[in-house]
Amino acid sequence: MSNPKPISGQSAETIAAISTPPGRGGIGIVRLSGPQAASIAAQLVSLRQPLEHGRARLADVLDANNSASYATRIDEALVTFFAAPHSYTTEDLVEIAAHGSPVVLDLLLRRALDLGARLAEPGEFTQRAFLAGRIDLTQAEAVRDLIEAQTLTQARQAASQMGGALSQRVAPVKQSLVELVALLEAGIDFAEDDVDVTPQAEIARRIAELTLPLAALEASFARGRIVHDGLTLAIVGRPNAGKSSLFNRLVERERAIVTATPGTTRDPVTERISLEGIPLELVDTAGLREGLCENLEEAEKLGIHRSREALADAALVLVVLDATQPLNDEERRLLAAVEGRSALVAINKSDLADKASPSDQLSSTHALRTSALTGKGIAALREHILALATGGAAEEPGMLTSLRHHQAIATSLAALADAAQANATAIPHEMILLDLYRALSALDSLTGQTTSDDILNLIFSTFCIGK
Ligand code: GDP
Repeated sequence: MSNPKPISGQSAETIAAISTPPGRGGIGIVRLSGPQAASIAAQLVSLRQPLEHGRARLADVLDANNSASYATRIDEALVTFFAAPHSYTTEDLVEIAAHGSPVVLDLLLRRALDLGARLAEPGEFTQRAFLAGRIDLTQAEAVRDLIEAQTLTQARQAASQMGGALSQRVAPVKQSLVELVALLEAGIDFAEDDVDVTPQAEIARRIAELTLPLAALEASFARGRIVHDGLTLAIVGRPNAGKSSLFNRLVERERAIVTATPGTTRDPVTERISLEGIPLELVDTAGLREGLCENLEEAEKLGIHRSREALADAALVLVVLDATQPLNDEERRLLAAVEGRSALVAINKSDLADKASPSDQLSSTHALRTSALTGKGIAALREHILALATGGAAEEPGMLTSLRHHQAIATSLAALADAAQANATAIPHEMILLDLYRALSALDSLTGQTTSDDILNLIFSTFCIGK
């Protein structure tokens, strides 16, 4: 059953959900929002004091209906009431914090539904905050991003967007765009009166002024996208070159199995690390063996096949060479294969080798001398991986991190480019206005003002229940 969602304004329905993750925990929270939130809560638990805005109240969770005088207590709870409009959703909102027993929380939720609440859909609390105009769409999306953050940097980025950093970056551009539209509209409306037609050069100047900050915002996606989505780094090379050891150095704890016999890393081993806040998935692949000969065991062949797949899929590649060995054909092929890709070469075991090493035979790809054993060169390796990952793009407030936002800005920029072109060829202002309205509507879709219900529902369906 899918409940239709309100298009705007306050809802007549009261929604309920368990807002804490499934399973056992120290505490668990049942959340209610809507006009009956307080009255349902008062029947749900036995309050020791009446509810008051912004106050936590002790209550007993009874095993049966409150009215039954013989009912025994099954848990105690803290009940906090937020009166409309001063709540997360802007509606009356109640949070019942009980012990985190799934059984008790389930009992509370079922009772709330019996008392007239409806089960909340994913993200519906946040959606109500958005529909009531308390937050815009970028802020609502930031709530989800904060919950899903896997690194502190991701969390900080989401928090800044939740605070409106992105909207604030776009707001002045939108304001100037609206002013330009008004100027041109006035010129058309009053063409027969004495209103001066805006000169072509003035329009061009204004469009250029709008384009600049939007282009900067679009460029911020280079860093923003990887902060948000992360990257995969495949570690490849011949068996025994020290891939697993380097992997462990990067992961900073023992994860991949290190052995002195070649070819033991049969399945790619993956681990997520945060490199300066950028989520990086490291894939330690099986050794790429010379010639892929038949006498290899099936498992190892499979491992090599998988590592080739990992190599093909990864955004970044770290080729590990053995400083004590000359380059072999397989390594030459590998180096040729990663030519032109975001790749780094580590000449490992540099503690064992003197100056003569495979690096002498390397041509273009950037090579670093490392020792997974002593740790020498590992810091530099991290720095190079980071530079490769970010492409040098720096962190900034209000970065674009989502594809949806990037598309909105790109659409707006394209429309502005069309407007500039139309203006340059002295096309009537009505036509320039069409482009400007397109640019405006794209900016509005960012904050959710002109986003269709279908897209809104799609966005909120990616939230967890109870948020
Ligand atoms: P992989 O097969 O490429 O994953 O290689 P491993 O990481 O399993 O390493 C193979 C062997 O080389 C192990 O005995 C490691 O201890 C050793 N080894 C790895 N890196 C270094 C290094 O930088 N210096 C020295 N001396 N030994 C290393």
